[in-house]
Amino acid sequence: MLTNPTRRTISEPAREIPVLMDADVVVVGGGTTGPIAAIAAARRGKKVVLIERFGSLGGILTLGLNTKPSGSLLGGIPLEIWNLARSAGGAGDDYMATTKTGGVKIASPTDPEVMKMLLTRLCVEAGVQILFETFVSNPVLENATVTGVVIEGKGGRQFVGAKVLIDCSADADMAAKANAPFVMGSGEKEARMQPVSMYFIMKNVDLVRLAEWARTCDDVPARAIPPDEAGLAYGLWLTGFNGMLRRFQQETGVRLQRDNITLKTADGQMYVNATRVLGVDVFSPEQFTAAILECYRQIGGVVRFLNERVPGFESARLGQVSPILGVRETRHIIGEYTLTGPDSRGETRFADSIAVDASALDIHDPKGGDVDFQSMPPYEIPYRCLVPQGVEQILVAGRCISADHEAHARSRNMPACMSIGQAAGVAAAVAIDEGTTVRRVPVTKVQAALREWRMPLHPEDIAA
Ligand SMILES: Cc1cc2nc3c(=O)[nH]c(=O)nc-3n(C[C@H](O)[C@H](O)[C@H](O)COP(=O)(O)OP(=O)(O)OC[C@H]3O[C@@H](n4cnc5c(N)ncnc54)[C@H](O)[C@@H]3O)c2cc1C
Repeated sequence: MLTNPTRRTISEPAREIPVLMDADVVVVGGGTTGPIAAIAAARRGKKVVLIERFGSLGGILTLGLNTKPSGSLLGGIPLEIWNLARSAGGAGDDYMATTKTGGVKIASPTDPEVMKMLLTRLCVEAGVQILFETFVSNPVLENATVTGVVIEGKGGRQFVGAKVLIDCSADADMAAKANAPFVMGSGEKEARMQPVSMYFIMKNVDLVRLAEWARTCDDVPARAIPPDEAGLAYGLWLTGFNGMLRRFQQETGVRLQRDNITLKTADGQMYVNATRVLGVDVFSPEQFTAAILECYRQIGGVVRFLNERVPGFESARLGQVSPILGVRETRHIIGEYTLTGPDSRGETRFADSIAVDASALDIHDPKGGDVDFQSMPPYEIPYRCLVPQGVEQILVAGRCISADHEAHARSRNMPACMSIGQAAGVAAAVAIDEGTTVRRVPVTKVQAALREWRMPLHPEDIAA
């Protein structure tokens, strides 16, 4: 590692910076969650600025080539988006995936290019001011209340004022820099965190041949295989290959880091989730880069495995490697309530529930074992998980809400992140309308607004 062991520091002189604009609500991070938070607040009449460090929206969902929510979208803006994607030919029907604990209904993957355009269009139509290619370096506070953020871009360092800041950076960057308490991963001395991975696309796969083979293959236990050819473009999902991978590694000497791999189609292309790097400090530029290089090495091995061992891949080639590393877990803020493992198994009811989620449990063993992917009963997410302790006028939405390591294995799924984003946007708008803070916002008014958008808040609200 090239890290400077002396940890030399320099002093940065204080300076005046220009105010670019003021907003009611600033959303940091235009990934899976941020655009939905921004659209929700803007549709409630607020002036919203959405700030994203890359040049397109969707984060892990689009740039990360992840594409597939591990559950259905149950209502509100998330379902509206998926339905619009379907009408644009950018997603298929929901399907049932088999897991070791039974079937789980999941939304079909989406075409990331269709989704990028759609998220952008909906933001623009709602009146959201998007700032692309803009990095938010830190929140600005007066005492313990946020007043805006400092941004960095080609134009230099500038300030954007905010009455409410919604942190959708995935890593809780804003809340952490505003001194909100947090834990890394499991929060233990040696914090357990799910590993990082990098998605890639294989093109030229013979999907008919692959589906026929997989139908009778015991080595692919978790799967969805459409009954006819028409369903293959968005409906083929296969997880397993454990025995085949073991034999391939023994016979070739190629070293891969996962026991299993997942293949899924979107728009007829094959998206591959097969790489893994454990124990990466993603806040270290050197370790982050080393993890990308290791993923590239593994991608070479997996492409060879697919070409040589999996029917349908004989003539397939690498189509695209995700431009971003997929990070599953880092900071969890400590909020007014912390979602626990039992809560995430549906064992608790919350008066302040702002979303119900029916995604699968999805844990990639931090020590390198297999992936635990299970169907489970729906569970509720309370508003208090979005409200960090110790700092005013920040909400956190997305994978970094206040949830312990076990609960996070469900709440990190995209359907939950999207619903949480919508609730955060609504709560910010309601708090401003009521002249109160996001900590004291009347949750019943937030819930009423969410219900108007046909968002189920409790398991019994979920349409059959
Ligand atoms: C490899 C992998 C596979 C997964 N598989 C599945 C799956 O099959 N199904 C499922 O449901 N879930 C899956 N997940 C989980 C799920 O995709 C994520 O937890 C979820 O998408 C996170 O959403 P988010 O909005 O919190 O983060 P992101 O989508 O990562 O969005 C964060 C955004 O914030 C931006 N940002 C960050 N910091 C700043 C800053 N300082 N300034 C400006 N912009 C900033 C980033 O560029 C990014 O666009 C997977 C995750 C990974 C990594």
